[in-house]
Amino acid sequence: MWDKKSIAILGATGSIGTQTLEVIQSFPGHYDVKVLTTHRNVDLLARQVQRFDPQKVVVADASREDRLKSLLANHPVEIYSGEQALSQVIDSTPLDLVMVALVGYSGLMPTITALRQGLPIALANKETLVVAGDLIKDLAAQHQVEILPVDSEHSAIYQCLTGESLQSVEKIYLTASGGPFRNTSKEELRNVTPAQALNHPNWNMGNKITIDSATMMNKGFEAIEAHWLFDLEPDRIDVVIHPQSVIHSIVQFTDGSMKAQMGLPDMRVPIAYALAAPHRLKTHFERLSFDQITQLTFEKPDPEKFVNLSLAYRAMEQQGNMPCVLNAANEIAVQAFLEEKIGFLQMPEIVEQAMKHIHHITQPGLDDYIQTDQETRAYARSLITKKTSA
Ligand code: NDP
Ligand code: MG
Repeated sequence: MWDKKSIAILGATGSIGTQTLEVIQSFPGHYDVKVLTTHRNVDLLARQVQRFDPQKVVVADASREDRLKSLLANHPVEIYSGEQALSQVIDSTPLDLVMVALVGYSGLMPTITALRQGLPIALANKETLVVAGDLIKDLAAQHQVEILPVDSEHSAIYQCLTGESLQSVEKIYLTASGGPFRNTSKEELRNVTPAQALNHPNWNMGNKITIDSATMMNKGFEAIEAHWLFDLEPDRIDVVIHPQSVIHSIVQFTDGSMKAQMGLPDMRVPIAYALAAPHRLKTHFERLSFDQITQLTFEKPDPEKFVNLSLAYRAMEQQGNMPCVLNAANEIAVQAFLEEKIGFLQMPEIVEQAMKHIHHITQPGLDDYIQTDQETRAYARSLITKKTSA
């Protein structure tokens, strides 16, 4: 017997948010959508309100509130605005599950609020674990909250670990598609455009994660995410390029046995798993066919070309506020690249300079993370101003 779950979807208008609603729509009676949020896309949010009839909505960019109100003038829904409203609605609404599908640092405070409420979390927003993984893990333990990973690699590992003990894990392999520039030389990378970088071979995702995939910062973030989710030291987390994106990740056990989780590259599968765990939903998504996929190949990532991957491992090893620095500098660099203010290879340069410049705090608290984020952003912006005016 299925107990209907009341759910909030933070970042409902994004790639993960819309796919979450697609999954929910195919299971009438399973989920009661109570909260939906957007940053600016109020037109899509208004359509989602008509379809899913939530109790509350949030538009994080307050300048879009008036337009949302006029779009929803005839619909009985509570409308809130501003970034802080994301946490306020989590605090004030009875919920069974929160899907955190926000992008970047914006996911941190709402995730903390949900954990303090003791609410289970389906976490797509990996940056939250990159920025403040220790704090998030402590809160989850303190409030006995389960964090269900949505990221396909971590969902794969979670599924491989079901019924196993963490003590039996020797190492894990995170698989990476290699992105659009797997076969591009470092020299050619200098001149690639945002449009080329946004053209991912296997996944259709939001802009930020698509650029992170092209630089492989995404895989570095995922290593840090795995470090916190599965309590693994950096030397037990490896990355292997697997261009077909069919094996979503692998666990190697102490007896030499390896378990892999497979399927077509379709985010609705890990989303459905996170929404229903420990149960499995019966979906009708396309299945993998061995008539179409006849080869699975693997290669090592080139650390000279994908400097961000090495920087992420360095930040993970240095611990403290260093992964927070890594994330903040990267957010600014990615934005500047998308706005064509800097080139592709300048992104890791900015991240590396920030990691050298910002003061290392070995045991940060929440206030230190907030301050580190702000300081790093300001510093990274100043580097971009220098580069663009040079
Ligand atoms: P999108 O950019 O597509 O969506 C992000 C969502 O968050 C949108 O609803 C957006 O609103 C909202 N948002 C953006 N900035 C803010 C802000 N400052 N305050 C409040 N809301 C904000 O991202 P994705 O769905 O691709 O990714 C979401 C998260 O999931 C990321 O952390 C990503 O790394 C992770 N992830 C994504 C995967 C994918 O396939 N897309 C796969 C694995 C992980 P608006 O629509 O107005 O921009
Ligand atoms: Mg992933």
